[in-house]
Amino acid sequence: MSLSVPRVPIASKLPHVGTTIFTVMSQLAREHGAINLGQGFPDFPMDERLGDLVHEAMRAGHNQYAPAAGIPELREAIHAKIQRVHAVNADPESEMTITAGGTQAIFTAIAAVVRPGDEVIIVDPAYDCYAPAVELFGGRPVHVRLGLDMQFNASGVAAAVSPRTRLLIINTPHNPAGTILRDADMRAIASLLRGTEILLLSDEVYEHMVYDGEQHASVLRHPDLRERAFVVFSFGKVFHVTGWKVGYVIAPPMLMQEFRKVHQFNVFDVNTPVQHALATYMAEPETYEGVAGLFEEKRDRFVIGLRASRFEPLACEGSYFQLADYSRISDETDLEFAKRLTREHGVTAIPLSAFYKDPPPDQRILRFCFAKEGETLDNAIERLCEI
Ligand code: GLN
Repeated sequence: MSLSVPRVPIASKLPHVGTTIFTVMSQLAREHGAINLGQGFPDFPMDERLGDLVHEAMRAGHNQYAPAAGIPELREAIHAKIQRVHAVNADPESEMTITAGGTQAIFTAIAAVVRPGDEVIIVDPAYDCYAPAVELFGGRPVHVRLGLDMQFNASGVAAAVSPRTRLLIINTPHNPAGTILRDADMRAIASLLRGTEILLLSDEVYEHMVYDGEQHASVLRHPDLRERAFVVFSFGKVFHVTGWKVGYVIAPPMLMQEFRKVHQFNVFDVNTPVQHALATYMAEPETYEGVAGLFEEKRDRFVIGLRASRFEPLACEGSYFQLADYSRISDETDLEFAKRLTREHGVTAIPLSAFYKDPPPDQRILRFCFAKEGETLDNAIERLCEI
């Protein structure tokens, strides 16, 4: 009997979900040997010292399970970093858990608090892992839109709040928009949530990629938001090791307790030697303090290049993503255009429509990742300028 004919029919829990756009476009890029500015990951190496520290930790015998919340040394190092960067405390014992990357932190936070029938407000365009996680736990994603110029739209969010709203998901710096939330936005969110039982999930994995002298307005800096928030961070983004899949989440003790109940049965704990290496490495602030400068230079190089093409760059205030409008070049849908760009011009980008429940039909925008070697960016620009 053929195994491809299942004897037991399976009703998908996620009938509308296919393979992620990142996987699809990376595969297409490989097939066509295109320059891959699609999926967000650096094409340059991590600091060798970080690799040496992992080997050292392995040789020192740190190869068995870590405590489920993460090794104390790494949680202490995170505490020190948060104090230095934001001048606030996060208790390593009760307010912090190391996760297998940002996506797992987000999934686990949603699993911990979303019940069947709960509404979760998601601001589109939004990173693609939020809504499926909500649906898996019986929640209902309520999609609102970013405002003009992809800025936060507090009144749109306010209009979406209902008695069933359980969670609001925000993201700064924003993937894919490349915009940031500012303190005024955070105050608007705080006044919106004050007096409600709505929780907040703040995806801050691009925290160190904020440009033009602006500050990352973390939820951690706002006590009235923080008391109801899971705040998610990623080492992969900061230290150019997206494949390591290590991040962390900060939340007040009551929320963290619920998070850990799920976490211990989901992954239990995270790669021990890598945790030791990260603890030692991040104790030196220069390891993360130079990140904004590094990427700001790359953003500038890419944007200056794009301006010489028929693409029109949108404002990028943070993250390592640059949006570009191609309506002067083509009227194809963004998916068609992105595929043709890969096939015929050898450059891969992500169609922005992939980040919407209902994409605006007239929008002609692609997302480019500029976390690349200068030479990679220059080669891509050369090709984009020929179109
Ligand atoms: N965060 C990456 C991006 O936005 C994708 C990571 C993934 O493929 N899961 O490109």
